[in-house]
Order: sequence, then structure tokens, then C-alpha cells
Amino acid sequence: MDLTTLTIREAHEGLKNGDFTSVDLTKAYLKKIKDFDGELNAFLSVTEKLALEQAIRVDERIALSGVEGHDFSMLCGIPCAIKDAIMVEGEKCTAGSKILENYVAPYDATVIKKLKEQGAIILGKTNTDEFTMGSSTENSAFGVTKNPHDKTRVAGGSSGGSAAAVAANMACYTLGSDTGGSIRQPASLCGVVGLCPTYGAVSRYGLIAHASSLDQIGPFAKNIEDAKIVFDSIKGKDSMDATSAELNLESLNAKPYNLKAMRIGVPKEYFSEGVEPEVEKIIKSVIKKAEDAGAEIVGISLPSTEFALACYYVIDPSEISANLARFDGIKYGLSGPAENLLEVYLKSRGKGLGAEVKRRIMLGTYCLSSGYYDAYYKKAQEVRQLIREDFAKAFDLPAGGVDLLFCPVSPFPAFKIGEKINGPLSMYLADIYTIPTKLAGLPGLSLPVGKIGELPVGLQIIGNHFEENKILAIASELEKMLS
Ligand code: GLN
Repeated sequence: MDLTTLTIREAHEGLKNGDFTSVDLTKAYLKKIKDFDGELNAFLSVTEKLALEQAIRVDERIALSGVEGHDFSMLCGIPCAIKDAIMVEGEKCTAGSKILENYVAPYDATVIKKLKEQGAIILGKTNTDEFTMGSSTENSAFGVTKNPHDKTRVAGGSSGGSAAAVAANMACYTLGSDTGGSIRQPASLCGVVGLCPTYGAVSRYGLIAHASSLDQIGPFAKNIEDAKIVFDSIKGKDSMDATSAELNLESLNAKPYNLKAMRIGVPKEYFSEGVEPEVEKIIKSVIKKAEDAGAEIVGISLPSTEFALACYYVIDPSEISANLARFDGIKYGLSGPAENLLEVYLKSRGKGLGAEVKRRIMLGTYCLSSGYYDAYYKKAQEVRQLIREDFAKAFDLPAGGVDLLFCPVSPFPAFKIGEKINGPLSMYLADIYTIPTKLAGLPGLSLPVGKIGELPVGLQIIGNHFEENKILAIASELEKMLS
């Protein structure tokens, strides 16, 4: 039996029944990585020693639970991988950048602390666009991640490594981060489930910052149930992240959600000319199936959508220019002899940061400069408010609104490596359907619903703030219908 094809629940049952141990599972995944990652480049580092140590310890815990007759947590003994922008104590954390090539994380991110407490096994750190800026991992300083479905194509980004690792069974589940689409878009392109939680639902402590008002950690998984297990394990308020919040789970769980009782909004702006006809066809056929299953389908409009990309590319670089000011290259090996401190910065940042990161730092610095602040940054914040209001109106159920929105994740399936790398604007368009929700802080999920040839296509399910359970329940119903 190939242990790496099991879901979290299946692996958990196997561990419980003593069919195999966590060490067996871990070794099976490490072998997969050894055999396949040379070509795919989903991993920036493999933490073999840590993984095997963790697995040995966990097997003792599992054996003891058998003797003492109590259960162990669902993630206990299950191997995962972590985007290289999330800190795992004692392991390298490069964020895909040369400037952090020798940086070793001094502490665990809150999500890692939570996973470790549950007995998770960490196999390694996955590839990402530099500082999570990009949609293809081509901006990684350590090479592109290839799409397991077609190795001439990208895996998406920025969490391309995390998506590809799950798609190629090199990890049972992974964590990624989503600032403008970086979980949902690679999940869609690699044919796995990806959940971007509500802003604040999961602590950002220990995630290397891209744009702090947008960044969010979330899971990639083989199916909806696994995504829910991981999300439930990492969510919740954290005193180390003032923007984190507690979900009111009692009330969410109390309601059984099903398609029959759902009003599903289909925003017309998400089916514009840019979307490839084959993608549109697949998404529309799923919407039809949902309707046949009893959902009420409502055509709606989110009129400010057309401004979202422009708004994002003012706010995002502005926050980047502040967040990335701290990287001077001095501590982690990039600085050389220089005449003065300014020259140190110029040399080490010049060498250590890639073109896209530099572009955004310059854009952001410009937008925040005193002469242009009102014209760009302030204006973008006003537009962000309009986008929030569009969604608030759409989800206002008592006023005739809808429960969820269905739309594409990406206007196109996985594109060829190199196809968009020289045109930043065409790369930015990859996130045209994932960016608006982030500006409003909403949760969104990518569910694999079809293929164009070998290339997967994801349906995006968007919910109101903290309605992850509604999204997951409906996604699970659709997943069963489509299987
Ligand atoms: N592709 C978008 C960007 O480059 C989103 C990236 C992300 O979500 N981290 O900003």
C-alpha cells in the first residue's frame, strides 16, 4: 500500500489500528520527496532529522494511548510541510529570498506551536515566491516549482511549493499563506483543496510579513475534511497577534448547512472577458449541479470589483515598503566591505532582493511619500471600503442577500513556465478573482471541480466573515456530488 495517498483521517485510523507507525508514514513521505522533488522543486529544505525524531516520539505517545485507552489527536503522527515563510524553530526560513538564505528561525510560529502540540510531523519547508510576492513561484530565489500535472507549467503561487507537495503526495497536508490569492490560486492550479481563512481567524505570529492587513495562514489538503481538521487545529485568538480573533464555534456548529437551504450568489464581474471559456464552462456546470441539488442561484453584482486590482497594488506595496525596511542583509551573510552604512544597505539589499520585491518597495515608497499619500494610499483605502461594502451588501441575508458566492479562482489553468514572468501586469491578473475578498478580509476556498486536459480547475467558494464552517460544509457536499 502507498501510505502517501491516505487522507488525514485514513492515516489516523491506520495509526490507531496499528496497521503502520508514524515512522513508517514519515519514511514513506521522505522517500516520495527524495524520488520526485528533484524535478518538482516543491521543497526548499527537507527537515528529515526533525521529522524522524518527532515520529519516534509520537509513536511512543500513540502506543501509550492504546495501553491507557484514550484517543490521540487527528494530526498526531501525520506528516505535513510548511511554507518557507512560516517559522519553525531551529530550521531555515528563507521566504524564498537570498537576503534570508542563512536565516534560522529562533522560535515557532503560533500555528507551528499548535501543530507540534498535536504531534504533527514536519517534513520540510516549501517553496514560495520571494517574500510571497507572485503567482507562480518564479519569483523564488531558489528556482520555480513545477506543476505535478504538467511539468512545463507553474504550480501557481506564491504558495506553489505547498500546493505541489500535496498534489504529488509529498506531504499529507501543508500550510501556506494568502495575501491576495496565494493559497487559493496554487490550490486551483494543482487540483488540491486550499482554504484562505477570514482575516484574523488564524494567528499571523511567526509568518514573515508581506502586507500585514492582508496576510493570512491557511491549509492545503487532499479533501475538504482534511482542510477542516487542519483549520480547526490552527485557528483561534493568539495574544501574540493583536489582529487575531476567536470564532464563535458553538453557534456555527449548531447549524447544519446544506445546499438545499443555500442562496448562492454568482457575481457577474467574475465572469468577465478575461476568463478562459473552458474554465467558465466547468464553473458554470458546477453551479448548475448545485442548483439541481436544490440551491437557489442568484445573479448578483459587485460593482467595485473592477477597481480591486489597482487598489491592491497600492495598498500591498505600501505595506511591503514598511515591512521590508527591516531587511538590511547584515546578520545573514550578505553584507561586504563598504564606505558607510548607506552603502552597506545599498549593496546588501541590491544583491539580496529580487526584481519583483524591489519593484514593490519602490512603488510603495512612492505611494506613501508625503506628496502622493492622499492621491494613492488614501484613495486606495477609500476604494477598499467600497469593496468591503459591496460584499457586506451581498451577504446581507435579511435584505435579500446570499449565503455564499461561487466563482472561478483563476481566470486560467496552470500557465507555462516563463509565459508571464516578463510582464508583471499579466502576472497580477492571475489574482483578479482572489484579491477582492482579501481587501474585504473574507474567507475563500478553492475546491477542485474539473480539468481541462490534465490541468485542474478550482471553484472558489466565498463566505461572509468567520463563516468557514458554512463554506466547508457546502464544499464537502459538492465534493461528494462530484466524486
Ligand atoms: N499574487 C499576489 C501578489 O503577488 C498575491 C500573493 C499572495 O497572496 N501572497 O501579491
